[in-house]
Amino acid sequence: MHVLTVSTAARNQFVDITREVADAVRAHGLRDGACLVYVPHTTCGLTINENADPDVPADVLAHLSAVIPRRAEFRHGEGNSDAHIKSSLTGCSALVPVRDGALALGTWQAIFLCEFDGPRTRRVQIQCLAEPEGRGA
Ligand code: ZN
Repeated sequence: MHVLTVSTAARNQFVDITREVADAVRAHGLRDGACLVYVPHTTCGLTINENADPDVPADVLAHLSAVIPRRAEFRHGEGNSDAHIKSSLTGCSALVPVRDGALALGTWQAIFLCEFDGPRTRRVQIQCLAEPEGRGA
């Protein structure tokens, strides 16, 4: 398993980690299979979406914050319930197909670490899952 360390710079931020994930897959030597990308945190998440236009992640973040305001009637005493809820909405993992040693993402897709309670240092676990021998597509 590879572990990336990502330092975020704002309370809410999407960080494109596509290149780092692709590098980890290459270093592992996986040719065909999938790559599990996982954040072991409760106030950040992972998502795959467009990064050709940076307005897309900006819109996603802005609208998540509009739907889930920072200050509301929350029970959790840490003051970061909005971050926990956003984390549940995005999820904490992505499974990305790997073909011929490269991430088989769509043309406009990028893998984002979604920070919802930064700035912090986050860990991203990357686990390469090979297709069983003789069963390649
Ligand atoms: Zn909390």
